[in-house]
Amino acid sequence: MNVTYLECSLTGERYEAGVPHNLSSAGKPLLVRYDLDGAKRTMTRESLASREPGMWKWRELLPNDIDPVSLGEVETPLVALPNTAAREGASTLLVKDEGRLPTGSFKARGLAMAVTMAKQFGTDRMAMPTNGNAGAALAAYGARAGIETVVVCPAETPETNVTETAAYGARVYVADGQIDECGALVGKGAAEGLWFDCSTLKEPYRLEGKKVMGFELAEQLGWELPDAIFYPTGGGTGLIGMWKGFDELEAVGLIGSKRPRMYAVQAEGCAPMVRAFENGDEFAERWENAATVATGIRVPKAVGDFLILRAVRESGGAAIAVSEEAILNAVEDAGRDDGFLLCPEGGAVLAAWRKALAEGLVGRDEQVVLFNCANGNKYPLPDRSKRLKLAEATASRL
Ligand SMILES: *Cc1c(COP(=O)(O)O)cnc(C)c1O
Repeated sequence: MNVTYLECSLTGERYEAGVPHNLSSAGKPLLVRYDLDGAKRTMTRESLASREPGMWKWRELLPNDIDPVSLGEVETPLVALPNTAAREGASTLLVKDEGRLPTGSFKARGLAMAVTMAKQFGTDRMAMPTNGNAGAALAAYGARAGIETVVVCPAETPETNVTETAAYGARVYVADGQIDECGALVGKGAAEGLWFDCSTLKEPYRLEGKKVMGFELAEQLGWELPDAIFYPTGGGTGLIGMWKGFDELEAVGLIGSKRPRMYAVQAEGCAPMVRAFENGDEFAERWENAATVATGIRVPKAVGDFLILRAVRESGGAAIAVSEEAILNAVEDAGRDDGFLLCPEGGAVLAAWRKALAEGLVGRDEQVVLFNCANGNKYPLPDRSKRLKLAEATASRL
């Protein structure tokens, strides 16, 4: 067993490994702690290079004792966007493309891990509120593990996500409220013993799956972390996870003390972290009337708010909000300039990098990694095609 104990992220109170958990008694996320000395003995750069690529090769720093519930979680590539960089006068720009994972988003990492742990604990039903990608991933891994799944989405959830989730056999409900309101219903059901609640950060293992993004990044960049990371921040699992993961990598001797500046990116229509960051607050207030096309980051209230803000501040980064127009322009530009279809949340991140460059927060010669967390094809796109009558068409006029 790699896990030594779990710990309340606010109070440090300890919880035993090997049994299911939700939030701590203080109502805050639990963080998983490992036998780092044990991990250090076997996790060398050489041993890692010789393992099959993908999230499960980081096994000493993952919580499962059973074989993973897996759908083929690839190591996602770092893709250069040279024309997008050049347009801003920057020397390089890298995107970690999480859209290559099963179900087309990085929610697969977290849910592969959470469902594996649920299977280890003998859970038979899991539920969550979702803006789309997480529900699809829960449903897919649930199907794989033989665990029933119940998914509640806000009305604006992209259609593709709702139909995809149902395709995996989940019970899917489209509700007339925001994700935190859907979450309240899921929480009630969990309290009644109907299912296990695997909402973002309300169970400890999704974070452990998502932190692997940071592990992969470190190895892909030759065990030297970049100068800055731009991360689309909803619940913040990935940002908090990577920040935790970097400390684990340092503790096992794989990296040094250099850390990237972490930029938490939100949409102007739902920016609770940006408001709290700018106000100097430790916790973030709920954002009323949240609205943005970037549905993955439309999260009015995050239970891990203080962890996001802490990581951003400790790293010397910032929380940045971008407009809907900037998001859509960024998606369009990256598609045209570099043949790379960002998802809207990825568009937000590109827009934030541009804003940060303009404001002098990042330099044009710094190494920056943007996270594109879903396949752009999962979202509706504007139809710019023209109609054609073949009988009257002239090829040379096309
Ligand atoms: C869920 C999601 C996010 C936000 O991720 P968190 O780690 O929960 O902040 C960003 N982009 C996409 C595409 C998502 O599905």
